[in-house]
Amino acid sequence: MEERKTYFVDVILPVPINNAFTYRVPFEMNDFMKTGIRVVVPFGRSKLQTGIIVKVHEVVPEGYQSKYVEAVLDEFPIITGKQFKLWNWISEYYMAPLGDVMNAALPSNFKLGSETKVLIHPEYEGNSEILTDREYQVVEALEVQSELDLKEISDILGIKTIQPVIKALIEKRVIITQEDLKQKYAPKTQLFVELAKEYQSDEQLKALIDVLSEDKRKKKQLDAILTYMQMGGFKQGISKPILRSELVEKGASASSFNTLDKDGILKIKRMEISRLMERDEADSAFKELSPDQQRALDEIRESFVEKDVTLLHGVTGSGKTEVYVELIQEQLDKGKQVLFLLPEIALTTQLIQRLQKYFGDKIGVYHSRFNQNERVEIWNSLLHNDTTKFQIVLGARSAVFLPFRNLGLIIVDEEHESSFKQYDPSPRYNGRDTAIVLRAFHGAKVLLGSATPAMETYFNAEEGKYGLVKLDKRFGDIQMPEIFTANIKKEKMQKTMQSDFSGFLVEHMKKALENKEQIILFQNRRGYNPVWACEVCGWNPNCKNCDVSLTYHKNSNILKCHYCSYFTPPVGACPKCQSNRLKMIGFGTEKIEDELSIILPGVRVQRLDLDTTRQKNSYENILNDFDARKIDILVGTQMVTKGLDFDNVSLVGILDADMMLNRPDFRAFERSYQLMSQVAGRSGRKTKRGTVVIQTYDPDHWIIQHVINHDYMGFYKNELIERKNYFYPPFYKMINLTLKHRDPNKLEVMAMDLADRMKQAFGSRVLGPEFPVVKRIQNSYLKVIRLKVERDASNKKVKLLLQQKIDDFYSVSYNKSVRVIVDVDPS
Ligand code: ADP
Ligand code: ZN
Ligand code: ZN
Repeated sequence: MEERKTYFVDVILPVPINNAFTYRVPFEMNDFMKTGIRVVVPFGRSKLQTGIIVKVHEVVPEGYQSKYVEAVLDEFPIITGKQFKLWNWISEYYMAPLGDVMNAALPSNFKLGSETKVLIHPEYEGNSEILTDREYQVVEALEVQSELDLKEISDILGIKTIQPVIKALIEKRVIITQEDLKQKYAPKTQLFVELAKEYQSDEQLKALIDVLSEDKRKKKQLDAILTYMQMGGFKQGISKPILRSELVEKGASASSFNTLDKDGILKIKRMEISRLMERDEADSAFKELSPDQQRALDEIRESFVEKDVTLLHGVTGSGKTEVYVELIQEQLDKGKQVLFLLPEIALTTQLIQRLQKYFGDKIGVYHSRFNQNERVEIWNSLLHNDTTKFQIVLGARSAVFLPFRNLGLIIVDEEHESSFKQYDPSPRYNGRDTAIVLRAFHGAKVLLGSATPAMETYFNAEEGKYGLVKLDKRFGDIQMPEIFTANIKKEKMQKTMQSDFSGFLVEHMKKALENKEQIILFQNRRGYNPVWACEVCGWNPNCKNCDVSLTYHKNSNILKCHYCSYFTPPVGACPKCQSNRLKMIGFGTEKIEDELSIILPGVRVQRLDLDTTRQKNSYENILNDFDARKIDILVGTQMVTKGLDFDNVSLVGILDADMMLNRPDFRAFERSYQLMSQVAGRSGRKTKRGTVVIQTYDPDHWIIQHVINHDYMGFYKNELIERKNYFYPPFYKMINLTLKHRDPNKLEVMAMDLADRMKQAFGSRVLGPEFPVVKRIQNSYLKVIRLKVERDASNKKVKLLLQQKIDDFYSVSYNKSVRVIVDVDPS
C-alpha cells in the first residue's frame, strides 16, 4: 500500500495577528491542498473561520496539537501570487497584521465568519427543486427564524462543514448575508412612466390622441400624454421611460398617470435610476484632443520610456480626462488591463459616466459601497482572466487588491486626495502609494493626475524620480476664475456682514442669481453650529464619551458628537451658571442653508454633506438636480470640491478659509491650498470666466495669495522650505503611534515607557508623547508618539526596529491592556 503522507497547511485568517496558523490536513483532503485556496478551520472556542492557505508542508508543529482543516471551499486558488506579494508588502510597510490586510482585500462574501448572519434572499421565490436536502433544511429553518448565524446552521444540520452549503445557497440566490441585504436593497429606485406596448406605434398613438381629444373629461390624461411625448418619451417608434416626477413638474397631473396606467395606456414602473443613464451613441466617440492635450499625451508616452511613474500636473478644467482616455484605449488595444483609481467613487459619478460612455461594459466599478455580488463578479472575472469584460477597473483605493493578470497602466486621478489613505481600520495603507508598488509586479506604468499635487509627489517629480508633464491652460482657452477676498474683519467693523455672509459675497450672489447662474458655497463643516457656549461663564456642551464639543443639528434638534454616535437634546440654560445667554460660535452647512433663505428669499438651496447623502443614491440625485438647474445654490463640505463639472456655475464662495488654515497639522497649508484651488475650479467652466470669493480675516495670508494667483509653484516652493525647516515630509518619513487607554494615569506611564524605548533606538527622532487635539474618544484617552526618520533610511530596518521596541514594550505585563495604533505615512 502506498504510504499516506501527513500534510500541514499554514493558513491566514481574518484576525489581527501577524502569523499564519498551522492546521493538519485530513488524509482525504491531501490532494486538494494548494496555496491560495480557502479552507474552513476551527478558530478559538467552537468558532469556524474561513482562511487562505499560504503554504502546504510536512513540518510537524512543535509544542502543540494542531487542529484539523474542516472543509475546502475552492478547487482553484482565489488569489494570485502577485496579490499575495502585495499583501505582504502592505503588511510589512504599514506594519499591519496580514490578517487585517486579508480582511481589507477580500470581498466579504469570500470570508464567511462565525459572526455572519444569513437571511432568505428577498428575490427567492420558494422553488425548492433547486435545493439539496441540506440546503432545504436551512431554508426551512430560515422560514421560522428569519435570521441565523453559522453556528446555528451548523447545529441544525448537525455537521461542522457548513460553509459549502452556505456558499451554494448564496450562489443560487436563495439566501443573502445581512451585510449584503443592507447594501443592495437600499432605496435607489424611482417611478418612471412608459407607453404601453399596444400604443407603441405612430398610428395607434395618433388614434389614441384623437379619442382622448374628443372627450372633455379626458383632458388631463391627454395633457399627460402630450407632456410625455414632449419630453421625448416616444420618438421614431421607440418608447423610453421618463421620470414621473419630471412630468409632473412640467405640469402633468400625477393622478392622471394612475388612470392611464389602469386603462393600460401607460405603464408606471419602479426602476433603478442608474439604468436609465443610457449611453448616447452619438456622443461616444472620443473627443479630438487640443494641441496642448496632444502635446501632453506625447510627453507622457515619452516619459514612460524611461520613468515608471509620471505626474500629469494639469490645472482644473485642463482636460486631463481626455488624455487618460487615449492612454486607456492604447492599453486596451494591447490587450492589457487598466486600473483607474479615484478618491471616492460616489464623489465622481460624473467621471464614471463619462468613461462609461467611451468604454461601456469594459469598465467594472469596484467600490465598497457597491454590493458584494458585483464585487465578486469583478474579482472572479479578473481571476479567470476573462478578457471580454472589466478590462478597465474603476475603483477607490481597495481596487488595488483585485487579481489583475496583466496590468499595463494605473491611473491615479486626484492623487493628492487624503482619502486615498485608509485611516481606520488597519491596514492604514495609501492606495496611491500601494498602486506604485503594485505597478512593479506587472511591469506597468503609473500616471498620477492632479491640479494640486501632493508635496511628496511634486518633490519626487522635481527630483527626477517621476516624470513630469504639465497642462497649464484650461481646455478651450477658458480663463482661470477670478478670485477675490472678502475681509471679514473690515466688514464686521463696518457692520456690513449679514450673519455669516460678507456684504461682498451677498452682492456677488445676487448678481449671479439675477443672471440665472448657479452658485456653490463651500464650508468645511456640517451641522448647524459647531459650538454652543455660555456667554457668561464660557461653558459649552461636550460629548460625554469624547473630548470634543457637540454640534447642533437643527433639523433633528439635537446636539451630536461627530466622533462617536452620542447625541442629546439641547439645553435651555447653562448648567453651570444658570444663565440663558447661550451663544452660537462658528457655523456649519445646515446653518448656512437657513441663513440663505433669509438673506435671499425664494432661493433654492440644497446641502451636500454627509448628512444629506447617507443613502446610496442621494448624492447622485442631488447632483442631477443641480445639473438640471433645480437648485440655485449648493452648500457643501469638501464633497463639493471634487471633480464636479457644471456648466452654469459662475460663483463659488469659500466661507471660512481661516478655519482650514489654522488646523494644528503639518499638512494644514497644503490641504488649504488644495481645497481652495479645487473648489475655485468649479466656477465658470464653459460659458464664461468664473468668480470666486474667499471670506477671511487674513486676506494677505501667503496661502490665500497663492490661491488667488493660481500659483501652485509659488505655494510649493514656499511650503517646501517650511517642511525642510521643521523636519516634515517629503524630507522625513513619519510614523505616528497612538496609544489608547481608559485610564489616563496608566496611559501616561505606558506612553512614557514606549517613548523611552523608542528613543533608545531612534534618539531625537522620537517626539512626544503628547495629547492629540482630541484627547479622549469614546471614553478612551489618547497619547501620540511621533517618529520622524530621514527619507533615505532603510524602511525595512526602521520598521523592524520599531516593531521590536513595540514587542518589548508589550512583553511587560503592565502594558498589555493598552492599544497601540501604528500609522505609517499619516495623511
Ligand atoms: P480636468 O479633469 O483636467 O479638470 P476635464 O477633463 O474635466 O478637466 O475637462 C474640462 C472640460 O473640457 C470638460 O467639460 C470636458 O468635456 C472638456 N474637454 C476636455 N477636452 C476636450 C476636448 N478635447 N474636446 C472637447 N471638450 C473637451
Ligand atoms: Zn454659564
Ligand atoms: Zn463622542
